[in-house]
Amino acid sequence: MIIGSGIAGPAAAMALQKAGIDPVVYEAHTTGADGVGVFLTLGSNGIDALRTIDADAPAITAGFATPTMDIVSTTGKALGRIRTSRPDANVTSRTLKRADLYGAIRDEALRRGIRIEHDKRLVDAQNTGNGVRAVFADGSEEYGDLLIGCDGIHSTVRGLIDPAAPAPAYSGLIGLGGYTRGVPVDTRTGSYRMMFGKRAFFGYVPAPDGEVWWFANLPRPAEPARGELENIGSEQWRRELTDLFADDAGPAAALVRASQEITPAGPMHALLTLPAWHRGRMITIGDAAHAPSPTSGQGASLSVEDAVELAKALRDLPTIESAFTAYEALRRPRVERIVKQAARVNNNKAAGPAGRIIRDLVMPLILPRLANGEQSRQTYGHHIDWDTTTAAPENAGRPQP
Ligand SMILES: Cc1cc2nc3c(=O)[nH]c(=O)nc-3n(C[C@H](O)[C@H](O)[C@H](O)COP(=O)(O)OP(=O)(O)OC[C@H]3O[C@@H](n4cnc5c(N)ncnc54)[C@H](O)[C@@H]3O)c2cc1C
Repeated sequence: MIIGSGIAGPAAAMALQKAGIDPVVYEAHTTGADGVGVFLTLGSNGIDALRTIDADAPAITAGFATPTMDIVSTTGKALGRIRTSRPDANVTSRTLKRADLYGAIRDEALRRGIRIEHDKRLVDAQNTGNGVRAVFADGSEEYGDLLIGCDGIHSTVRGLIDPAAPAPAYSGLIGLGGYTRGVPVDTRTGSYRMMFGKRAFFGYVPAPDGEVWWFANLPRPAEPARGELENIGSEQWRRELTDLFADDAGPAAALVRASQEITPAGPMHALLTLPAWHRGRMITIGDAAHAPSPTSGQGASLSVEDAVELAKALRDLPTIESAFTAYEALRRPRVERIVKQAARVNNNKAAGPAGRIIRDLVMPLILPRLANGEQSRQTYGHHIDWDTTTAAPENAGRPQP
């Protein structure tokens, strides 16, 4: 049983099917989380992981290539360039509307005959000894051999595995985005430009059809209540954002001014480290287990990698427990490195006046190393080989919380 039909859910379903396991996906909403957010970037590692299960083509078709990111200061000074693609192969990061990515992955799963049941919100689950019993908000129950929580950053499965699990932390930033035409920009198609503005962060990228896709991260010390941002209209956002970016170099204020609609992408949260990823026959993957701040541009890619590695471990190891333990040993160091790195960048996005001066001095020294060095290769160049066997964990028998 897979809980959640976002990115990790359908990807896990396809990977399990390829591994010879028969999954069913249960999704809380009538359609999936399609409407949430504006657009996102699937890193070359995410595309590569989808390729492992022959599911990369729909995502590639739905987006456009975005191989580089230039980082600039509030005055427009270049701070560095990040290559967001594998240097050694024909795999390039793609930017897609969130709804298109969800749709592409879900439709591919459906095309493969995978059952996705909607209006099924998991509210409870228990290990039964030789399986898992899942209870849904509509009062129905289902039984399966195992349960995979792909239910996102505000996961229910996480708390069922460990009632003491930490909640995701609000990062002090909110996200907004929009699409604009007719405003000249200083970057070419597919090349992101990200600006550490004086009072907020702004990113934009021209799409092949001439539209400019943009997003902004605004410091908001107090976490907005649920629905609060959605109740603010585009006109009010436009006024706030044009004011926030008025003193910065570049087209941020002009892009915002020319946008018909400005969409809130919500308060930005992160889950740095979760002590228990699994208990008995239940496990969390994707944002439910480790949610990097959206700043990382890696949450979706890590979710697909998780899905593929978990399916391989279940294929290769003799028991569910040994598969879960081997999977965690393999994944934890990688995802926690990326999550922590994103948290550091987030702090820079919300820097005060003194912090901004230090940041603009230090970034040009650090970024080239971060961007083109070992870290970038490790993040974007990650490859999963479907045909290698997952090694048995040394500590398969360790006690579970
Ligand atoms: C503003 C913003 C920008 C981002 N930009 C990027 C980016 O550029 N690149 C990137 O890689 N990542 C980005 N991310 C992160 C990325 O969206 C997530 O990492 C990714 O969606 C995680 O996938 P998931 O499948 O784990 O969870 P989700 O995509 O959140 O899917 C979870 C699913 O579970 C369902 N669900 C929840 N609870 C239940 C329940 N109890 N029962 C049944 N179903 C349930 C939900 O309805 C949803 O369909 C961004 C996030 C935000 C907020």
